[in-house]
Amino acid sequence: MIELNSEEIYYFEKQVRYWSEELGLHSWMIGVNAKDEIDSEAYARTTMHKNWRTANVEIYTKIEYLPSTIDKLDWLNKTALHECLEILIAPLSFLASDIYADSVVLGASHEIIRVLEKTLIERRPQNEQ
Ligand SMILES: [Zn+2]
Repeated sequence: MIELNSEEIYYFEKQVRYWSEELGLHSWMIGVNAKDEIDSEAYARTTMHKNWRTANVEIYTKIEYLPSTIDKLDWLNKTALHECLEILIAPLSFLASDIYADSVVLGASHEIIRVLEKTLIERRPQNEQ
């Protein structure tokens, strides 16, 4: 098991701030918190309130497994981007979830998120990290 230290948690928060700026999420109030837990299905979770435009990004401080080939900071950066993309497409997800099951909305939104993740990570200047 891997545990995140306070510097890594701070780094994650900085990446959330960076990506929310890049994605223009100005109309959202975004909080970042560390959760001293382990989740076998996710590294982080974001809960959003559609009417208040608030989002709470939680990073789990304990990670069951991270392949040794993956750089921890790169991974934190990518996780931050992932959560910000969830916020970006949240207005569409909220609309879709009125009609479709949550699992369907989750699947479709992650098809988009995966494409955007790849493009945006590659585009980011290295010296900004
Ligand atoms: Zn996700």
